[in-house]
Amino acid sequence: MKVQIYRKTAQNLKFVPNLPDYEKAVRTFSWAKAREEVAFLNGKLNAAHSAIDRNAQNFRKNKIALYWQGEANEKERYTFLDLFKISNQFANLLHALEIGQQERVFIFLPRVPQLYYAFLGTLKRGAIAGTMFSAFGPQAIEDRLGNSAAKLLLTNTELLPRVLKVLKNLPELTTILLTDGTKDRKAGKTQILSLPNLLSSQSTVYETRMMDPEDPAFMLYTSGTTGKPKGVVHVHKAILHEHLSAKWALDLKEEDVYWCTADPGWVTGIAYEILGSWSNGASSVVFSGRFEPKTWYQIIEDYSVNVWYTAPTAIRMLASDPERSAKNFDFSSLRHLASVGEPLNPEPIRWGLKTFGLPFHDNWWQTETGGILIANYPSMDIKLGSMGKPLPGIEASIVDDLGNELAANKEGNLAIRPGWPSMMKTIWKRPKKYKSYFTKGWYISGDRAFKDTDGYFWFVGRADDVIKTAGERVGPFEVESALVEHPKIAEAGVIGKPDPLRGEIIKAFITLKPGVKQSEMLKEDIQSFIKRHLAGHAYPREIEFRDKLPKTRSGKIMRRLLKAQELGLPIGDTSTLEEF
Ligand code: ATP
Ligand code: MG
Repeated sequence: MKVQIYRKTAQNLKFVPNLPDYEKAVRTFSWAKAREEVAFLNGKLNAAHSAIDRNAQNFRKNKIALYWQGEANEKERYTFLDLFKISNQFANLLHALEIGQQERVFIFLPRVPQLYYAFLGTLKRGAIAGTMFSAFGPQAIEDRLGNSAAKLLLTNTELLPRVLKVLKNLPELTTILLTDGTKDRKAGKTQILSLPNLLSSQSTVYETRMMDPEDPAFMLYTSGTTGKPKGVVHVHKAILHEHLSAKWALDLKEEDVYWCTADPGWVTGIAYEILGSWSNGASSVVFSGRFEPKTWYQIIEDYSVNVWYTAPTAIRMLASDPERSAKNFDFSSLRHLASVGEPLNPEPIRWGLKTFGLPFHDNWWQTETGGILIANYPSMDIKLGSMGKPLPGIEASIVDDLGNELAANKEGNLAIRPGWPSMMKTIWKRPKKYKSYFTKGWYISGDRAFKDTDGYFWFVGRADDVIKTAGERVGPFEVESALVEHPKIAEAGVIGKPDPLRGEIIKAFITLKPGVKQSEMLKEDIQSFIKRHLAGHAYPREIEFRDKLPKTRSGKIMRRLLKAQELGLPIGDTSTLEEF
């Protein structure tokens, strides 16, 4: 397909970006110098101190850090000083409950304010914080709390029954705190206590433990798109990378109101809704209600959001809003849009340009990388469909299965030179799994990509998802991007289906835009559309219409599940599946 370029000119880039000259930054960058960006004290630091404490002690003290809007549109505001004090209280409470350094404290809550200050308080205490999506069922909870041997869990009365179902298998869990509980009680050996009762009596003064840069700060089970969730552990010094990447790729500035739509059950919600964003001193909006185009647009208007970080699924859903409600809102506050989590097809970028007058900037990273590694920056031209270029300080390459670097335009494994500060420390209790990520001095991401002659990286697909058909390799992303260009298609997930003649054939699962009728004729029309837009061998020989595509809670299409269903194979771990 022809590459379309969105050029950044003085007309369409109306502000000075934090990274005005990418090439120069790449040439002059050093991690040693970058350390000044976060708060090291005698070689030690604490990610929560860099994110909150230092801003509560400087000119940002009374600035709103968190604008919170709940499911019923109730609203709360917290300044940096408020978050500082209340997270201190939580750290003191952990001390009182005998939670020691490196012990695991898990949070199982929707996006309520308690989640945010408990996370920060846990880091201050030097314990390891873990998060879980509030939609998880008992098995997913048991897997995570069991594997991590969590000692304390913060949750609420509504979610508690799911934990109680598996409590007998969690002998290490000594304490459950309820955000809305009033009466203390016991379940087996576990004490169930009221957070509000205990927190109010704690002092707002706490001396944040300054940690070794290599000490673990938080752990997170990956979204499980391809298999059993892995407990990825991140260290305190990761804040350095989170801070810099938020500054450059998200372009966060002092006066910004920033909205990240991710849940902290997913790494984006930790790195860019708690750590990197607050470290940059931005005011963050957190909305804990359901996705609904009108509500989302209203949030942008009401809070005058300047920087918006969201995901391709959300963008595609907004683009196929049957009511086209975007036209009723004022988006003039928006300055910079970014997207992560899945490949961003060119079509939603064009839709963003039409709707907001701004392009979405795709960026790439993983739970394991702890922060954005490849991105489109405000100062850089966008090649629609490309993930952009490595962050200054990051060496990215395309290598073969033996770790040898490949030439430009050759598809291979997307690999990163280890040593960036937010690289995972380990996979909890799975040292062999951790080791398996590295080959010949490279961190191998598990994604396939290529780099063009200008140094832009292009996503092809997850290694397991690349299709081999009639001797050709076809990336699902390329086919899906072509499919969503079709005016009647909302979303598409593409898999390789075993075929005796061709090795694999391409099968596409498609959801149609509202009001469009399914028909055999439409299938043929779609096939010829793809033949015209893409190479002839890359068209889907089989098409199946679906009302919905299976997705993870972070909004990724689960191609693994589509394939397993198609082949009648066991579907494996589905704990992160959005709906069953
Ligand atoms: P698991 O590793 O357990 O299967 P997961 O890979 O879905 O889960 P995450 O770490 O949340 O868990 O997702 C990272 C993956 O998401 C990347 O490896 C890549 O496949 C995909 N991804 C993220 N951002 C982008 C992007 N901008 N373009 C294309 N793919 C992306
Ligand atoms: Mg992964």
